[in-house]
Amino acid sequence: MEEEATSVAYDTALSEEQIAVRNLARDFAETEIRPVVMEFDESQEFPAEIFRKMAELGFLGITVPTEYDGAGLGFVEYALIVEEIARVDPSIALGVAAHNGLCTGHIFKFGSEELKRKYIPRLARGETMGAWGLTEPGSGSDAGGMQTVGRRDGDGWILNGAKNFITHGTVGDIAVIMAVTNREAGANGISAFVVDKSMPGFSASKKENKLGMRCSDTSSLVLEDVHIPAENLIGEEGEGFRQALQILDGGRISIAALSVGLGQGALDASLKYVNERKQFGRKIAEFQGIQFKLAMMATEVEAARLMTYKAAYMRDHRQDFAVEASKAKYFASEVCVRSATEAVQIHGGYGYIKEYPVEKFYRDSKLLTIGEGTSEIQKIVISRAVLK
Ligand SMILES: Cc1cc2nc3c(=O)[nH]c(=O)nc-3n(C[C@H](O)[C@H](O)[C@H](O)COP(=O)(O)OP(=O)(O)OC[C@H]3O[C@@H](n4cnc5c(N)ncnc54)[C@H](O)[C@@H]3O)c2cc1C
Repeated sequence: MEEEATSVAYDTALSEEQIAVRNLARDFAETEIRPVVMEFDESQEFPAEIFRKMAELGFLGITVPTEYDGAGLGFVEYALIVEEIARVDPSIALGVAAHNGLCTGHIFKFGSEELKRKYIPRLARGETMGAWGLTEPGSGSDAGGMQTVGRRDGDGWILNGAKNFITHGTVGDIAVIMAVTNREAGANGISAFVVDKSMPGFSASKKENKLGMRCSDTSSLVLEDVHIPAENLIGEEGEGFRQALQILDGGRISIAALSVGLGQGALDASLKYVNERKQFGRKIAEFQGIQFKLAMMATEVEAARLMTYKAAYMRDHRQDFAVEASKAKYFASEVCVRSATEAVQIHGGYGYIKEYPVEKFYRDSKLLTIGEGTSEIQKIVISRAVLK
């Protein structure tokens, strides 16, 4: 029934292999995640066993080549997997995106061969959970205004500071941390390091109690005189900020995909409900006011999906995808908030209680217009490009 409810039009653009990957993720989400969605939402517990099972399917090293124990897939497949998981539980999809796209992606793209050999296979097999720390208490959109500092100590570095709102801050074994290593050099004075939880002075502090995405682990990280060996510097000194911006470009594809999945999940639930609920002696599906909401949701989700796949396709074909990723992230996240909001409206009072999935979609959706660059920041990126 739900298979019929989702659009099949976009299947024509996907290869058989990509459809098989999408179906694998869809089956996994339906059988392993759907039955426990609300249990984890209520407890805010990180679903470690689900992540272990996703690792077995290659979902924790999606774009990592097979020689580093990854699945060796592209960004289109990555988007499909995140979308399908988000359609059932966006908070688990958020963890998949942060682990793959931010932490693993950063080390793989910019790390030395030694760093990659040390960390990537364990990340891809899910034996090590990854976090990525850019945001700080005083710097979010203005990430370059960070206060965390790294100073040289012999061959290595000493890091001091704090990171805020970090996905997998508590459950993560390692984190990529951006720190100022030369204040005078501005954006060229920020470096990126792999920091291991086993390093003395590195710890998680406050775990956030959130509106949505509740089983995704979000915490602060504290760095107190953490000694970092020289080989844990990612790339060259001073490259960290530019590296982070490039990682966010790719990250925006996964947040767009997550938004598409959430928007679709809200639409699926609504399509089911409108054929069950009767008022004035008719199914509410028969009211034009309801039909128009469904039409808007279906159209916007499909448009967001196509924009997301386009950005992923461009990334896979080594085209300049950054602005397309920003457009996809901006549009898809706004669409998913609208889709979730309309889904609650369609459900009436039942949309406001936890027995129906739209209540959670509504709470989860808002993060997507904020994380990995707010809608306002995406509009700055896009307007700069169109004004060029
Ligand atoms: C659940 C969750 C998970 C997260 N995971 C991570 C993670 O893993 N790693 C990480 O590093 N960060 C993470 N973040 C942080 C996230 O990326 C930031 O919250 C986001 O970038 C916004 O920063 P801020 O919260 O400091 O808001 P601010 O930057 O303070 O923005 C406040 C408001 O001002 C607006 N604004 C700011 N500058 C401008 C401008 N120039 N023009 C117009 N409007 C502007 C913003 O759009 C926003 O509406 C996470 C956040 C959450 C809530």
